[in-house]
Amino acid sequence: MNRRTAHAVVLGSRFAGLATLTWLRRLYRPDELAITVVDQWQDMIFRPGLVHAMHLGPDQLMSTVSVPMRPFWAKNKIRAIHDMVVDIDPNLRKVYMTTHEPIPYDVLFVATGSSPRWDAIPGLAEHHQGFCEGYLARHTAAVNAREPQGRIVIAVGQIMAPGSWTPSIHVGCECPAFEAALLWDARLRKMKQRDQADIVFVTASQVVAESAGPRFQAVLGELFPKRNIRVITNAQYVRVADKALQLADGTSLPFDRILWLPPQSGSRWLEHSPIAEGTGWVPVNSFLCHPQWDDIYAVGDVVSKPWPKMGHAAMVQARVAVHHWAWRQKKIRRKPAPYQPKMLWVIEDSPTSAFFGMSDTFYGGKQQVIYHGRPPYWAKQVFQWAYVRSTGALPVMP
Ligand SMILES: Cc1cc2nc3c(=O)[nH]c(=O)nc-3n(C[C@H](O)[C@H](O)[C@H](O)COP(=O)(O)OP(=O)(O)OC[C@H]3O[C@@H](n4cnc5c(N)ncnc54)[C@H](O)[C@@H]3O)c2cc1C
Repeated sequence: MNRRTAHAVVLGSRFAGLATLTWLRRLYRPDELAITVVDQWQDMIFRPGLVHAMHLGPDQLMSTVSVPMRPFWAKNKIRAIHDMVVDIDPNLRKVYMTTHEPIPYDVLFVATGSSPRWDAIPGLAEHHQGFCEGYLARHTAAVNAREPQGRIVIAVGQIMAPGSWTPSIHVGCECPAFEAALLWDARLRKMKQRDQADIVFVTASQVVAESAGPRFQAVLGELFPKRNIRVITNAQYVRVADKALQLADGTSLPFDRILWLPPQSGSRWLEHSPIAEGTGWVPVNSFLCHPQWDDIYAVGDVVSKPWPKMGHAAMVQARVAVHHWAWRQKKIRRKPAPYQPKMLWVIEDSPTSAFFGMSDTFYGGKQQVIYHGRPPYWAKQVFQWAYVRSTGALPVMP
């Protein structure tokens, strides 16, 4: 590497990391900025597509969600390191990994997301099914094909967040669990097997879709009973027993199968790092910049804020963070606007229709848009297709 070339290091290469890389390369030529990305996985999994485990077979599912990243790295002249990050020294400006030499940085973007906490509820383990990672969704898709009947519980674990987050949230991203319940219902109806199955949706949030605004909460409040899906909110999980989920209020929910969005904490490797205040969540200002080390930005699910833990939010945050750094470098003249949290989601409720929602009321705004029909479904499929197929020209939020 040329000594005069600045060096940006990006940790994590999913929604937040990839959008960060894309914006960095849009603003800086390779001779102006060397970029290194580190991720523990070679390929990227497009997580919103994982809910299709509820109606696709395992091979078909994986062929639609796996994104090989090599062409993207090569095209954008990005050095990719396949390794696990274990530490950062923010004073020496170095990143430490398990097998590679430490790498120095001029600016660091932390985008390692949150960590699933299968250890947070007694009895809960990864052998319980789920769909938040590719290997879990693949297994779920395989079991779905074999066992359509019976009692299924779809459970959303709590977010392990500091008490200082305002407004407080109780779960991270609930949307995929709504989709799983609705898509499972749609599939069983199509197979004319719905009357042989029970679907129970359990969530740690106090109301369904707590950060999505009252209009959307009302829509879901009507939809679930219509689809014969029982909903339990404010769940405090005590134990996942062999065939029953036990809650703190004494409820015992029997199941034949249980599907989890497990409890979520900050990035575990950051738990002892000074940049994460011992929590795994990285504090930032509204430009995604660390309050103590201004050469460190954090983007996406890992930020220590109750902002939407969603792909859309991660992509918008990446734009703000990169432009803020570029403005400080005098690469661009206009300071970007600070990040404004907003929920934006597309929830598939059948293999041909979806709800589009956008709301900022939870964050003090007034916007509440909801639309149901085929167009949101198709918009989501086109986005997925573009994201997965066009590696090297990833969609970037405006
Ligand atoms: C099933 C499912 C469906 C979803 N659907 C939607 C949707 O429809 N719309 C939406 O907006 N959001 C959706 N979300 C939420 C969205 O996927 C997340 O908000 C988003 O993935 C967060 O992106 P991120 O880049 O911040 O973190 P992550 O996606 O968690 O990516 C973190 C990356 O960092 C890497 N990493 C972590 N630790 C280390 C380490 N120590 N060393 C090296 N690499 C490391 C990981 O390998 C990973 O590649 C969904 C989530 C799930 C689970």
